[in-house]
Order: sequence, then C-alpha cells, then structure tokens
Amino acid sequence: MKYNGTIYRPPVEASTFLLPITEGCTHNSCTFCNMYKDVPFRMISLSEVEEYLKETKQNYERYCEKIQRVYLVGADPFALSAIRLLERIDLIKKYLPNTKVITMYARTDNIASKSDDDLKALKEAGVDDLYIGVECGLNDVLDNLNKGYSANETRKQCLRLNTAGIQHCDLLMLGTAGKGRGLECARASAALENEIKPHKILINTMSAFVGTQLDEDIRTGKFLPASEKENLEEEREFLIKLDLPECYFWALHPLDSVKIEGVLGDEKQQMLDALTWSIDHVKEDAINRTSRVGTL
Ligand code: SF4
Repeated sequence: MKYNGTIYRPPVEASTFLLPITEGCTHNSCTFCNMYKDVPFRMISLSEVEEYLKETKQNYERYCEKIQRVYLVGADPFALSAIRLLERIDLIKKYLPNTKVITMYARTDNIASKSDDDLKALKEAGVDDLYIGVECGLNDVLDNLNKGYSANETRKQCLRLNTAGIQHCDLLMLGTAGKGRGLECARASAALENEIKPHKILINTMSAFVGTQLDEDIRTGKFLPASEKENLEEEREFLIKLDLPECYFWALHPLDSVKIEGVLGDEKQQMLDALTWSIDHVKEDAINRTSRVGTL
C-alpha cells in the first residue's frame, strides 16, 4: 500500500497494530493544525486494505495471532459510513481473528452522521475508545479555532456514544482561549468532561506552527496567546474541577511543559502538586510557543 502523508496516532497507542484506512482529514481547517496540510482526504479502498492485511499475515503470521487491538490510521477514519467501516472490520477479523478492540480518531461530526443503530452495530463489531478532539468547552473559542463543531455538539454526540456503550478518550488543549481566559476555559472544559464522562483525557498545549492560521493570527495581533504560567493555571483549575475518579489523565505530550499522568481518583493530588510547584517557579516568558517548526 502506498500511503500519502505522515502517520499520526495517539501516544497511548504506541504498541497497537496500525491499519491505514484513510489519508488526510475531512475538515483540514483548524487554525492550529498543519498535520495534513498538503494531504487531500482519501478513503483507502477495500482491496488495498485487504492486500495490506494479507501481506502482513503472510509475513508475520504468529504476530498476527496475538493482535487484540487495532488502531485505524487517519485524522478521522470514523468519517466513513458505518457500512464501509463494518466492511473493513470484517477484513480485520478475517486476517487478525483475535482482535477485540478497534480504535481510531473521530470528529464530532463523524458521530453525528451515524444513526443510533449504526453506533450500536459498530460497538458490537468491536469499535471502542474513540479519540475525540474536544479541545475546549467554550463554543466561541472553538469557533475561533475553526474546529467545525461546538462544545454543545460534542456534548450531544459523546452522550450518544455513551448510550451505545462506545468509550471515548478526549483530547483537550491548553491555551486555546488565549490570554486572560484560561480559568474560564478550564471550568467550561471540566463541566463538559464531567458530563460526557470520557475513559481517558489527553492533554496537549496549543503552540503555533509556521504556516498555520494561528501563527499568522498571533503575529498580526488578532490572537493574544496565554503565557506558560496561565496555561499551567488552566490545567490545574481543569484538574481541580474534574470529577471523574475512574478516568485516566495523560499530559505527557512533547508540547506539555509539566509531564503528569495518573488515574484521577488516586493520583489527582500528586498531579496538582507537580503543577503548583511549576506555577510557583515558571517565568512568564519561559516558553515561546509561536512560530515553531514541525507539527502538533
Ligand atoms: S486538528 Fe484534527 S480535525 Fe482539525 S484539521 Fe487537524 S487533523 Fe483535522
């Protein structure tokens, strides 16, 4: 299979079998993102997927027997219709017969395009742990980021996932609201997360990469970025307000300046202490998050 673009996957899926399903992103317009800038969206055909699985099985038969978790590659492979996803899942089960969980990134609008029966059928086929780019709980901020959906829509669609029994892992970003609004954002994001009850929360810190609209907006003064101290205060307030004892909190992204992780019920205080120490010691201009080279 010839795959166009870079393969991104959540860091917590580092040891999961990766199966390319789509290239690019159906939206490709978030102001902070350049991951798929020059990669048009493409659904990889069923025959290409089968060829890839067949080859993998021929070359690594014993390894294939052990695979229980498969990660579908692409910015939002959940954009595919339930029928197309189920066709690909049938192939996975044919070549990787011990697969129990099929996970992938999903945008809120990908969920909206599916009926409740579609979601139920996908759950029964093994779809679980969808990674959702929630980013933050404030509608106007999501609008400014050109996310393409609101926090209200995320609430609605994640509650539908919960009803179907599909767990979700939510990705949130510090600093999205800009200077002076971090605490407001933290409270709105925590209220949203407490309601939609993710299985995991993954944090990263917004940074402006060269060539993105965000970088341009910062340079022209349209967007005033938060300082590193504000970002950490936002994270601390978010953590304080989260009431999800079973949820795993992960903030080990290379863009996160304070690396913390743990189950909220047992390790929240430890994580708060690490954040408080850093807030007390960090200098306002400690980290320059603008005009970075690279990707998210
Ligand atoms: S952040 Fe996600 S949804 Fe937005 S453009 Fe990038 S890949 Fe697409």
